[in-house]
Amino acid sequence: MSKLSKTKIALTPLSVEPLEGEWFRFHVGSRSTPGRKHLVDLEENNGNGRCNCIHFECHCQPQLRRGALPCNGLRCAHIRRARDYFLDEILPKLAKALTRRNS
Ligand SMILES: [Zn+2]
Repeated sequence: MSKLSKTKIALTPLSVEPLEGEWFRFHVGSRSTPGRKHLVDLEENNGNGRCNCIHFECHCQPQLRRGALPCNGLRCAHIRRARDYFLDEILPKLAKALTRRNS
């Protein structure tokens, strides 16, 4: 693969689809296996999030289980992508809805 196309892939954001009727669960596209999707739950592990990819299950989950505190080092690319999506796309809607309710 050329250097240029590698850069292009790295810059293309992973796809994110919210699960219907849910605020915190998403299907996030896999970068290594196109077409494959990982299930991300942002609420799990005290807000660290959880993903069903190998990296998260083998590297992050065991440390969280041993009591590690939530941090970006214990989040895979899919969780980080879903968090970005949540802040960019969902938080503004949530904030608007809350403002309407309080006024
Ligand atoms: Zn993952």
